[in-house]
Amino acid sequence: MQKLILIKYAELNTKKDNIGLFLKTLKNNIINSLNNLEVTINYDKGRMYVIPKDEDFSFVLDKIKNVFGISSIAIGYEYDNKEIDVLGENIVNLIKDREFKTFKVETKRSDKSYPLTSLEVSQKLGSIILKNYSNLKVDVKNPEVVINVEIRKNNSYFYFDEVKGLGGYPVGTLGKGLLLLSGGLDSPVSGYLAMKRGVKIEAIYFDSPPHTSIEAKNKVIELANILSKYEGNLKLHIIPFTKLQEEIYKNVRQDYVITIMRRMMYRISERVSIKNKCKILVNGESIGQVASQTLESMNVINNVVKIPVIRPVACFDKLEIIALAKKIKTYDTSILPYQDCCTIFVPEHPVIYPDLEICEEEETKFDYESLIKEAIKNSEIINTKEKKNEFTSYL
Ligand code: ATP
Ligand code: MG
Repeated sequence: MQKLILIKYAELNTKKDNIGLFLKTLKNNIINSLNNLEVTINYDKGRMYVIPKDEDFSFVLDKIKNVFGISSIAIGYEYDNKEIDVLGENIVNLIKDREFKTFKVETKRSDKSYPLTSLEVSQKLGSIILKNYSNLKVDVKNPEVVINVEIRKNNSYFYFDEVKGLGGYPVGTLGKGLLLLSGGLDSPVSGYLAMKRGVKIEAIYFDSPPHTSIEAKNKVIELANILSKYEGNLKLHIIPFTKLQEEIYKNVRQDYVITIMRRMMYRISERVSIKNKCKILVNGESIGQVASQTLESMNVINNVVKIPVIRPVACFDKLEIIALAKKIKTYDTSILPYQDCCTIFVPEHPVIYPDLEICEEEETKFDYESLIKEAIKNSEIINTKEKKNEFTSYL
């Protein structure tokens, strides 16, 4: 008998032509998530099987729960025989130390030449279990334990206690995006959602010392760290934004300061994207949340770039964003009270419906091009890596 971790894929079956890439990426992402721990991974189109050493099972299970592209995870037992009486004996042995009262057996049979139908296998195994454990009862509607049986061509499997995986696509299968990561609640959640769709993320943060503190910067690094749990290693670009921001503040009419500042962020982000082969920008804008997130604002801000801008939380309300931030463990860091560059320079009455021509007119008042180049040239890159042995257990 071989004990193993049995993984079912999420959504992958819809990707018929690309399935090879999806499975290879998923396998690599699992290996990366395990900090070089030695495991064997086999897969076919239906399942992936991870075989760690006995003592590593709980570590591996904890890590795999954070890998996108998985619909469910269970500990499985593989046997190389398939005769019904032997299967019965195997199950009787496997459940002998477990405490439960009700169960059902569910059988899948990919070996169509097997002499019994799936239903007949379930019934036979059910009666063998009942014969051995007179205290147990079958409950097909709401059993405490579902005993899953799979009869395959060359072997058979049992598994119980299936838990849900994160779903989505394996990170990287859809290419790379650049996440505008501030210290707030919205952008880390957006990054998570983009990763869930298979997009590998790099992050960019606009830092304005001394107007923003080192704590604000560290908070963003910590958020990148938490997000890196879902993709192994996350590259964070820190852009020195002070000069540009001060020039905007000095030269631009006050109600347009925020709009122009965001246009600069977009311009820089697009250039950093191109340099780093990111195909989209991802941000935490949510329709109507603040003045710079009206449709008119989004329009004039978006106008300075060609690269697509994805806003995963555009249609979420704040409560939905908070719930997800708690689930992915970014909430506690996001609510730390350090001001970011936007909050510090907020004018009393920021324009809510900005006009494109006015933006363009205001931007002629200072040489932003050279300031953009300088900011990109002086950017700092941090490779975050998840801190070892820090697990989430929200599943
Ligand atoms: P968040 O909660 O993500 O900070 P927010 O509600 O505070 O968002 P804004 O400050 O208007 O909204 O920012 C909107 C989006 O712009 C953010 O979600 C983020 O993607 C990006 N952004 C804002 N400030 C920065 C920054 N200093 N560095 C990088 N990205 C930023
Ligand atoms: Mg913010």
